[in-house]
Amino acid sequence: MLNFTQIFKEKKLKLTPQRIAVYKYLCSTTEHPSAETIYKSLQEDYPTMSLATVYKALKVLVSVNLVQELNVGEGNFRYDASVCPHPHIQCIKCSRVDDVNGISFVHLNDDIKDYTDYEVLLNQVYFYGLCSECKNSAQLEEKNETK
Ligand SMILES: [Zn+2]
Ligand SMILES: [Zn+2]
Repeated sequence: MLNFTQIFKEKKLKLTPQRIAVYKYLCSTTEHPSAETIYKSLQEDYPTMSLATVYKALKVLVSVNLVQELNVGEGNFRYDASVCPHPHIQCIKCSRVDDVNGISFVHLNDDIKDYTDYEVLLNQVYFYGLCSECKNSAQLEEKNETK
């Protein structure tokens, strides 16, 4: 949190209670929530905060690199307070997004230099599959069908 207030001071940005609330919420979860999810989760404590305010707070947090925005396709964005590069895996059935820990693809930024004349700045690695819950429910369905 110390880092957080410092960054805002340096960038001369206003540290509003809403921005703090959105950042705190993101730090407290590994679920990579969407703006709507954040909005709903904060509604009880911040009943006057609108969805637009949540979007604006997220935009500011992303611009100062405190939060990472994940494009999960079809115009859907998820947010992550863990900004160091890490791969993600998304469930194709329920769209939950999880971190993949313990492996890094930062070396890809170097590897790709032989294949492009771009200056490579970053990469995002996504994997897709079925989460354990969806995998289990698919197996249950199969069992019921064979009965
Ligand atoms: Zn799932
Ligand atoms: Zn993540």
